Amino acid sequence: MEHQVQRVRDAFLSGRSRPLRFRLQQLEALRRMLQEREKDIVAAIGADLRKSEFNAYIQEFLTLLGEIDLVLEKLPEWVKATPAKKNMLIMLDEAYIQPEPLGVVLIIGAWNYPLVLLIQPLIGAIAAGNAVIMKPSEVSENTAKILAKLLPQYLDQDLYVVVNGGVEETTELLKQQFDHILYTGNTMVGKIIMEAAAKHLTPVTLELGGKSPCYVDRDCDLDVACRRIAWGKYMNCGQTCVAPDYILCESSLQNQIVQKVKETVKEFYGENIKESPDYERIINLRHFKRILSLLEGQKIAFGGETDEATRYVAPTVLIDVDPESKVMQEEIFGPILPIVSVKNAEEAIRFINEREKPLAFYVFSHNDKLVKRMIEGTSSGAVTVNDVVVHFMLNSLPFGGVGSSGMGAYHGKHSFDTFSHQRSCLLRNFKREFVNKLRYPPNSQSKVEWAKFVLLKQFSKGKLGLLLLTFLGAVVAVLVKKYQAVLRRKALLIFLAVHRLCCPMNSRFQAPALLRVRWELLVLFLCTELAKLRYVFF
Ligand code: NAD
Repeated sequence: MEHQVQRVRDAFLSGRSRPLRFRLQQLEALRRMLQEREKDIVAAIGADLRKSEFNAYIQEFLTLLGEIDLVLEKLPEWVKATPAKKNMLIMLDEAYIQPEPLGVVLIIGAWNYPLVLLIQPLIGAIAAGNAVIMKPSEVSENTAKILAKLLPQYLDQDLYVVVNGGVEETTELLKQQFDHILYTGNTMVGKIIMEAAAKHLTPVTLELGGKSPCYVDRDCDLDVACRRIAWGKYMNCGQTCVAPDYILCESSLQNQIVQKVKETVKEFYGENIKESPDYERIINLRHFKRILSLLEGQKIAFGGETDEATRYVAPTVLIDVDPESKVMQEEIFGPILPIVSVKNAEEAIRFINEREKPLAFYVFSHNDKLVKRMIEGTSSGAVTVNDVVVHFMLNSLPFGGVGSSGMGAYHGKHSFDTFSHQRSCLLRNFKREFVNKLRYPPNSQSKVEWAKFVLLKQFSKGKLGLLLLTFLGAVVAVLVKKYQAVLRRKALLIFLAVHRLCCPMNSRFQAPALLRVRWELLVLFLCTELAKLRYVFF
């Protein structure tokens, strides 16, 4: 393992992963892999989760293709340095923030969306210029195998490496030093990852889970609410990190919700759910038995049928659920939807706040005031109002948890930021040494006063601009009056000098080409006009 990580580090140190063109090429190759080998990958996901082709494409491929397209379009902008605000001391120097790659990144994936949870962070890591070691989940073994086979056929084999294996291999991998670790999985293992990372002071992004509550208000469109909740709960057989884990509502709503969810399940999966190509299975026997144990002693309003041989668990709703029961103590991660009664929204807020911070929180209501109160009164990785799960698909939103549901975030530009270091760059020269006398010993009261003025004085942009404009106006008036003849004769020369001053050859932050041409024309125009003014005013 040590040798493998060292090989990847050597490849990173060669500098190959850094140029923008290389990053774009690798991302294009990744897109080609997804397009050309779609059938093989879909078959592997199908074998792992009994997922239909359509569902695999919509739930895994579309997200990745959208993400790659976004990065290909925006990366040239993201890699650029951002000029930093300057103070009076370094007014004439260059200060900017340059995103730079972190180095060798470890990505550990989970099994429930085995493609997207490994490749989406990979896109961000490549975009930021890193080398990457990927550890797919051994639980979704078919997808893990196909990715280990295909990725080296499309990507640089030294920079981007797949390591397959179970807990033993991951443990060994975690002994090595990385520059960042992004882990997706359960909270318990999240702690193991963080502990291992701490030994090397490696920063981590932990994409964990938890119980995501869903509050259904009396004042809402119950038909739409139940359809959306049923979709988010039963997709992938409930094995979705941001699935609504349980419903909180007034007791009077309970039976209506049961009825509407039941109708929706029939609409989605037909009379014989087992035969539906859109209904997946529980990933393995261990999880199947775990889910079965959550049903013990519960009041099943509908569903509850199971089949161990095929690891089938029917879409199920539980009513009158005791908040202290087992099903309310751990993340369900299966197709079971408990309904817990609360008196009102305030009690729901208290209920949520007494527990660990969830990965997502959902509110269904027409009442804007209540929605605002629920958002302000709680904390979660994300909140979606009048829908579930879809915030995952919007890559302008950072995706991640808070508290025990995780730390850090990714997706879109947020992935690029997660895998980049924002490097502070200050480029000075050897001139204006007299200004530095302020900081050199021996010190004095007058130096302190000057330092206070230079470092603490805040100028508002508006005021400073006005002051500068007035000053420039006065200077121009004096110059025009004094050098009117020269101005007339040397208009072109003056233009060239001003142009040189405004756009120095080595400047890092030049105006866009179009703007520069206009600026030049403006300067030329002003110079000739100034020369002519002489006839009007003097
Ligand atoms: P898993 O069993 O696939 O484990 C995830 C990874 O951790 C695997 O690669 C595995 O090899 C590794 N691992 C397992 N035990 C380990 C150990 N002792 N030491 C080191 N590495 C170890 O996945 P899981 O944990 O069953 O995934 C389900 C959980 O993940 C749920 O809680 C779910 O909510 C969460 N999840 C979160 C997100 C998210 O984006 N926040 C996405 C998917 C799943």
